[in-house]
Amino acid sequence: MSIINRIIVQSYAYELEDFGASVMVFEKGGKTTVSKFVVSIETNDGQVGCYAPHYGATTHALAQIKEMAPTLIGRDAEQREAIFEHLKIAWRHFDKVGIAALDCALWDLAGKKYGASVSRLLGGYRKRLPVYASTFPGQKSPGGFDHVNIYADFAEDCLGKGFQAFKIHGFMDGNPKSEIAIMTAIRERVGDGLKLMTDPASSLPSFLDAVEVGRACDDLGFFWYEDPFRDGSSSAVAHKRLRDFIRTPMLIAEHVRGFEQKADFVLAGGTDIFHIDPELDGGITGTMKLAHFADAMGMEVQLHTAGPIHRHCMSALLNTHFYELGLVRPGDAWNGLQPPIFACDYGDQIDNVGADGCVPVPDGPGLGVTYDWDKIKKWETAREVYS
Ligand SMILES: [Mg+2]
Repeated sequence: MSIINRIIVQSYAYELEDFGASVMVFEKGGKTTVSKFVVSIETNDGQVGCYAPHYGATTHALAQIKEMAPTLIGRDAEQREAIFEHLKIAWRHFDKVGIAALDCALWDLAGKKYGASVSRLLGGYRKRLPVYASTFPGQKSPGGFDHVNIYADFAEDCLGKGFQAFKIHGFMDGNPKSEIAIMTAIRERVGDGLKLMTDPASSLPSFLDAVEVGRACDDLGFFWYEDPFRDGSSSAVAHKRLRDFIRTPMLIAEHVRGFEQKADFVLAGGTDIFHIDPELDGGITGTMKLAHFADAMGMEVQLHTAGPIHRHCMSALLNTHFYELGLVRPGDAWNGLQPPIFACDYGDQIDNVGADGCVPVPDGPGLGVTYDWDKIKKWETAREVYS
């Protein structure tokens, strides 16, 4: 038995160049500081499992992990289901986003213990995963997606690189016409060469604005329509009504937290495709449970954002289409959601996508990635040790 006897949480920070106020904004010569953390779980028999979240590495997730970690000391590291249940119930007043990094570190540990990739432990059958390009948001300031034509140029570029699908994050200015202008320009440029999706990211002010953009999705043959308006995609009733007005499948639930709450949202008719975030919805354990629940209803899932855990889960899911490579923009610009901490050739940049439009599933033990611990140490800003 592998008993958890130490958990280390290292916070680190680094600077990214050519970003503005955040990793969502391009600014030539600008710099932004990004803070993230990595969790390492050790056991009494010398096993170690690690996970460094990217999109989910928020300060409130970190705060939950600091509370959760001490409660795992002395537990059997392989009883992931029991640990998931313990954390889910003990933190039932909260959104429970802290579960994910701990769960993923436990999966990494198990894979390393048995010399198998997490994909293999999950019954994975796919080695390569088709990618969709998920764009940066548009911006008013110069650079990045500052014009409709930049979107069309980039979509054409992605088509040339072998991508099969492309998702727009538009100007988010609350104007359905500006959304539709981007959608139309891209469809005219790439024809049927790419499956197209759009994600206004809750920026449209009203229900009827959401209907207007949804009908444009219908007319332009969009593959899915995601999180349109300002309810933050939290109302299953609103989206059930919205689905009555449009034909394009809706991808909702990115903003719905909680294991049972997500299931309720689907059963209440809130979406056509189920959005699950492995870094926010209970890690690999939570993601696989929710994805299997959807599969039993003939429903597809999409995993939100990119990362090693996403690839392992996706490799074992029959009911999913694309891996979200995001957020990306033209040129060799860094996908700012991803921390530059890998010592292996793992990456979620445009250049990591093969000519087949796919990325590989890591096949080494555990998560199959190696972190550059010297770099993390150099960038370390805080360290908590629980034993
Ligand atoms: Mg989204």
